Amino acid sequence: MKACVLERPAPIETNPLKFTEIREPDLAAGEILIRVNCCAVCRTDLHVVEGELPPRKSPVIPGHQVVGVVERAGKNARRFLQGSRVGVAWLHHVDGICAYCLRGQENLCDHPSFTGYTDDGGYAEYISAPEDFVYSIPEIFSDEQAAPLLCAGIIGFRSLRLSEIKSGERLGFYGFGAAAHIAIQVARHWDVQVYASTRDARHQRLALDLGAHWAGGTLAEPPEKLDAAIIFAPAGEIVPAALKALRKGGRLVLGGIHMSQIPPLDYGLLYQERVIRSVANNTRQDGEDFLRVAAEIPVRTRVQIFPLSEANQALNSLKNDAIPGAAVLQVKS
Ligand SMILES: [Zn+2]
Ligand SMILES: [Zn+2]
Repeated sequence: MKACVLERPAPIETNPLKFTEIREPDLAAGEILIRVNCCAVCRTDLHVVEGELPPRKSPVIPGHQVVGVVERAGKNARRFLQGSRVGVAWLHHVDGICAYCLRGQENLCDHPSFTGYTDDGGYAEYISAPEDFVYSIPEIFSDEQAAPLLCAGIIGFRSLRLSEIKSGERLGFYGFGAAAHIAIQVARHWDVQVYASTRDARHQRLALDLGAHWAGGTLAEPPEKLDAAIIFAPAGEIVPAALKALRKGGRLVLGGIHMSQIPPLDYGLLYQERVIRSVANNTRQDGEDFLRVAAEIPVRTRVQIFPLSEANQALNSLKNDAIPGAAVLQVKS
């Protein structure tokens, strides 16, 4: 099969992904083989490719927002019929027996594996995945529309949940890429007012197009105090600015898997019961709940399509803020 393989992490400008021919994946018990139609590109893929996340499997195929069709089932796998359209997301597998799994927090599992990081992902013609961690894709979405829902969408949704935002409240978004452009559609559906802070003028325009109440530069102060805010950009220097924008008792959620160093904080920014918390991965329940809500709204993702062979270029564009919405690799020709 054709695949984009990472031998060792390197700056994306050096085109570290090699488009090449390799063997199709083997199937373990409980797994299914999926013929990939498309795979959306996530900032986490960039962190894997450039080595901000330490290598866990080498070589590795990145990609964890995979939409495809079930080709065949391994031993004991009977959840999906051949030909069913399915999605594979970041959470590849959990042990199911650790204290976190047992208390319903499988996103924090002590022995997790992750698609496109500890296991091969979807920048390839085929992918294998445990059937219990695979999603059915609602019919209303095309393959390309659906792919960014699987991480940008699900993680944005978990971030919204952790922000505890309620109808009629004010919510700040810092960074306005793939996750924020989906989360704003859910927030508007819940009648939440969105304030978008992002450095790129095109992203500010996209936010206003999608119903943001206000859009401004990353460190610009929103005109009103916010009930909660979510930082999607991987930049720690945003944290003090976002705290400053919160009302007393406001919640700040950090939505990324990686963030540059957070500068020293004046305690006055945190005092008055403001809260900072991170988001780590997602549970399968988050994924099921989000896909149902996304189909009800229905969420419309803005996508820019690249052929699989141009994965390096897609990641390069993402790094340079040149993608309004989400980049999607077209795999099936
Ligand atoms: Zn566990
Ligand atoms: Zn992701």
